[in-house]
Amino acid sequence: MLILGGTNEGRRLAKRLAGDARYRTLLSYAGRTERVRAPDSAHRIGGFGGAQGLADFLREHAFDALVDSTHPFAARISANAVAAAALTGTPLLRLARPRWRPLPGDLWTEVPSMEAAAEALGSAPRRVFLTVGRLEIAAFLRAPQHDYLVRAIDAFETGLPRARVIAARGPFSFEAEHQLLVEQRIELLVSKNSGTPLTYEKLAAARALGLPVVMVERPHVPEARETASLEGVVEWLATLHGAPST
Ligand code: NAP
Repeated sequence: MLILGGTNEGRRLAKRLAGDARYRTLLSYAGRTERVRAPDSAHRIGGFGGAQGLADFLREHAFDALVDSTHPFAARISANAVAAAALTGTPLLRLARPRWRPLPGDLWTEVPSMEAAAEALGSAPRRVFLTVGRLEIAAFLRAPQHDYLVRAIDAFETGLPRARVIAARGPFSFEAEHQLLVEQRIELLVSKNSGTPLTYEKLAAARALGLPVVMVERPHVPEARETASLEGVVEWLATLHGAPST
């Protein structure tokens, strides 16, 4: 089985199946981060060359199943997975985290894109906590009046006049997030609706402090069969091969 990863779930799935003699997995990374956390199981790094390249890869290595466990904002690879599965007849399952929903006390403004998030910050200068990566920061160049605290897995040059980058990988605790927001005198947060528990606590801390959050909604991806859990993948695999799930 080919697992498209780059997420905690992808790693966990590969690990979960590593102990099961019925399956052989290859975990695929795009290679975006400098510090790939190599899993114990087999993995590869790098793009395939579009949907056709992925289809060729599936055929070449005779994969029986494809699991798309990429981040919900990685829309291109998910679209490629749907196309490549159709081209090759490979069964495809998407392992997708449910989106976060606002709870009582949350002050969210939901927006469709990073560009809309930058607009939603308003014209008056504010102290903003941004949890976005190198590829998304450009959207905020249109709002250079704000003081940004940017948290990403790898440090990078933002191009923003007043920004500080902290390189860190989750999980982050409620206490640590609360302390960070208070110490940095953050007035507003921007977050992608990734749905991962690893980075949820910043939202709980914002709720506790009464801080507004600009929540960027997920991009559109073509429909595919989905599950929200590792167990859902295991059950699906069992139905493919007629084997009982363990
Ligand atoms: P993307 O825009 O959907 O994909 C861009 C290209 O990167 C794809 O067309 C593909 O290249 C290659 N690619 C993406 N994921 C791959 C994988 N797992 N294995 C091999 N090639 C892959 O993706 P992205 O938003 O840049 O994200 C890249 C990776 O970072 C993904 O694995 C994703 O799970 C992870 N990630 C993304 C985010 C985010 O917010 N976007 C957050 C956390 C983790 P080819 O067309 O050449 O095959």
